[in-house]
Amino acid sequence: MKPIVISTWKHGLDANKAAYEIMKNGGNSLDAAEQGVRVAEDDPAVLSVGYGGLPDADGRVTLDAAIMDWKARVGSVICVENIKNPISLARLILENTEHMVLAGDGAYDYAIKNGFKPGNLMTENSLKRYNEWKASGITKPEEIHTDDFVLKGKKDINADGNHDTIGMVALDKNGHVSASCTTSGMAWKLHGRVGDSPMIGSGLYVDGEVGGAASTGRGEECIRACGSFLIVEMMRMGLSPKEACRVAVERVFKLNLLSSKNRDHLFQVGFIALNNKGEYGAFSVRGGFQYAVFKAGKNTLYDSEFLIDEEYIIEDL
Ligand code: ASP
Repeated sequence: MKPIVISTWKHGLDANKAAYEIMKNGGNSLDAAEQGVRVAEDDPAVLSVGYGGLPDADGRVTLDAAIMDWKARVGSVICVENIKNPISLARLILENTEHMVLAGDGAYDYAIKNGFKPGNLMTENSLKRYNEWKASGITKPEEIHTDDFVLKGKKDINADGNHDTIGMVALDKNGHVSASCTTSGMAWKLHGRVGDSPMIGSGLYVDGEVGGAASTGRGEECIRACGSFLIVEMMRMGLSPKEACRVAVERVFKLNLLSSKNRDHLFQVGFIALNNKGEYGAFSVRGGFQYAVFKAGKNTLYDSEFLIDEEYIIEDL
């Protein structure tokens, strides 16, 4: 079934539309994966991506993004400020440099040299949320997944569906898979903190012979497990995309338990995967994760299956 595109969260629906349109007209999955997630980057209502994304603890909006195609070509940017579309900067690195990852000021300078226009990414709303967070007195960044996570006192680990990283995997008519991932990261993070999204193998991974995967949620947990790489390798061994995502979620949770540093189990990580045959799936640590799939002219939002229910807390172990 080609083309097909899968992406994370409700805002994946609009992103999918842009990506599907490109591939329907014969465009490739790399263009689709770039242009699709730009829709979320441009949308100020999406509070975890691009323009309007929530800032770090110092009030600075720092963005991470990466893109990978079926030929194992990679571009990634880390902790870049004042550039609205980091995914296109990542694409430029993929196309025009001998490198794979540019960070911070270097990434910004490269963007400006190549015609990107600088801009303030903070909106009235994100500034208001930041000021509320400052006033709340909460300081532990590792306990924060999104703004709502903080404000609702950990009850809603997924926020309200308008939040969180967008990860996308696209399969074009020629059977080529590409993936993209773009985020402003965990809200109120320490300045300089980088999550899973721009890390190849964690936030996303593609193998042209197999398929691709992408992640969302608390990046620290995904990095530990190299989640997206693990999923692609599981699919290579014959697992369905959903089962491969389940293996990665189980690994993420196991490593969280093992780690003495971070024994907070109230976190969310969700994965999406799509293989070369057009089979797709998702799985998350907890309930509430949603993913969007556009195939055969139809764009649908699904609830992901998950490992443990909302009430599961450390005392239950
Ligand atoms: N994965 C992102 C990060 O940790 C955040 C998210 O998906 O909400 O930076």
